[in-house]
Amino acid sequence: MNLRLFKMNSLRFKITVLAILILAVILALYSSFTFFYFHKMLYNELDNSLKMKAQRIHNAVNAYIDVLGSDPKSFRFAASRVVARTGQHPHMNKVQKLENLWMSQVNESGFQKDYVLFLNSKSEVLARSSNLYSDVAPLFSKEIRSALSGHTVLKNQKLLKEEMRLIFRPAAYKNGQKCVIIVATSRERLIQMAKERLIIEMICVGLILVIALFFSQLFVRRIMAPIQEIIQSAKNINYKDLSMRISTDDIDLEMKDLVDALNEMMLRLERSFNYILEFSSHVSHELKTPLAIIRAESELALRGEHSPEEWRRVVSDNLEEAKRMASIIEDMLLLTRLDYQPHVFKFESFDLIEFFREMEEPIKLLAFEKNIHAQMSLAGNCATFHGNKTHLRRLFYNLVNNAIKYTPANGEIILEVQCKDEEAVIKVSDTGIGISKENLAKIFDKFFQVGGMDVAGDASTGLGLSIAQSIVKMHRGRITAESQLGKGTTFTVWLPLF
Ligand code: ADP
Repeated sequence: MNLRLFKMNSLRFKITVLAILILAVILALYSSFTFFYFHKMLYNELDNSLKMKAQRIHNAVNAYIDVLGSDPKSFRFAASRVVARTGQHPHMNKVQKLENLWMSQVNESGFQKDYVLFLNSKSEVLARSSNLYSDVAPLFSKEIRSALSGHTVLKNQKLLKEEMRLIFRPAAYKNGQKCVIIVATSRERLIQMAKERLIIEMICVGLILVIALFFSQLFVRRIMAPIQEIIQSAKNINYKDLSMRISTDDIDLEMKDLVDALNEMMLRLERSFNYILEFSSHVSHELKTPLAIIRAESELALRGEHSPEEWRRVVSDNLEEAKRMASIIEDMLLLTRLDYQPHVFKFESFDLIEFFREMEEPIKLLAFEKNIHAQMSLAGNCATFHGNKTHLRRLFYNLVNNAIKYTPANGEIILEVQCKDEEAVIKVSDTGIGISKENLAKIFDKFFQVGGMDVAGDASTGLGLSIAQSIVKMHRGRITAESQLGKGTTFTVWLPLF
């Protein structure tokens, strides 16, 4: 047997102990029940035989009375003949016949080893069996009283150093005499049989428990085997290859749940790890250019003599690059939180139509500055929309800003909000330069900019649409873009209302 079993904190130990305990309780209950049933049966049998013996004594006394008459003398004689076989009667011939019959019954019933007492209604001993030397009647005054009042009493008592079972049987005779017949028989055999039965049952229970312990060990080891496999597989997974998963083939249902949970955890870890890799590579890549510009500008400036205007230009260029770097870092941090910690953003209930109405003025102002016509159409009822106002504002300003940025003067932008039963559909359309099919597939990628930073302008980081998409996802919605080069672009956002 494996020594691991004896480690108290091992699952194998606990399962085995639990199984054995349950089995032990069941077996104890079962064997107690069978033992008590057996015990009761033994006593029933003994009591029935005692009742029969008392009945025979009663019948025999009656038979004597029938023959000899029921005067007190004959009655006393009958009792003593039946119980102790003593005394002489004038009509001994008739008595002889009776006694032959009586003796055959006595032999049959095995009275020889029993103690018999025959008491009258005053609890006086009329007759006692010859093997009973001392007067035991005073010991049983309560039982005798009860028998005289017509109740048969059965009782265990140690008598003459022997464990006995006694019957106190009421008996009434023709002469009006009320008597008590007491028969005591040994219950030593019964006790012996009960003891033997108990020992056999205990041995059986013990054996069953040992066998169960052995088999439960085998079963538990088999059940636990997949855990070892899982441990081995888990050990093989390391940071170099987080894509490995623990196989769920041929695995128990409960273990499958565990493996699925572990695999899901691995997936989350892999995603986080990849995100960190992606984040650091993007940030370092994006920061490389502005840093290179700052360095080159500074080195060049330090080489020769420069006028104050030239110094001012260098410092102002460097400041622009520093701002850009700060903005990249800020956007990346926001993206990380949106994607990986969406729960940190507080949601509130508000009217979505009201929310867009508040944005109408500033949007029109922004568009007006570039001589673009902006219009807004609001329809339906979204009074109980649930979301994060700050980030939704950021999302739609972003879309509108892009629309204004990529639409030439005299163009038009339309913001259309339609609240339906289960979702709000928001469209931001423009009549701008549009996006080619090829680029349309990439515009939600981080740092993607059509034509590069120079075209998009200094403030652009290429993260605007990635952030927009993450904000939409945080609200369990979706965002798509349709565009035609030279004609314009439409961004559609679906936001669920519940
Ligand atoms: P940026 O900060 O450069 O605007 P975005 O993620 O917001 O970054 O946009 C990514 C690219 O998608 C932009 O560089 C631009 O080329 C394209 N784009 C976004 N919105 C529009 C639009 N309304 N019309 C045309 N092109 C757009």
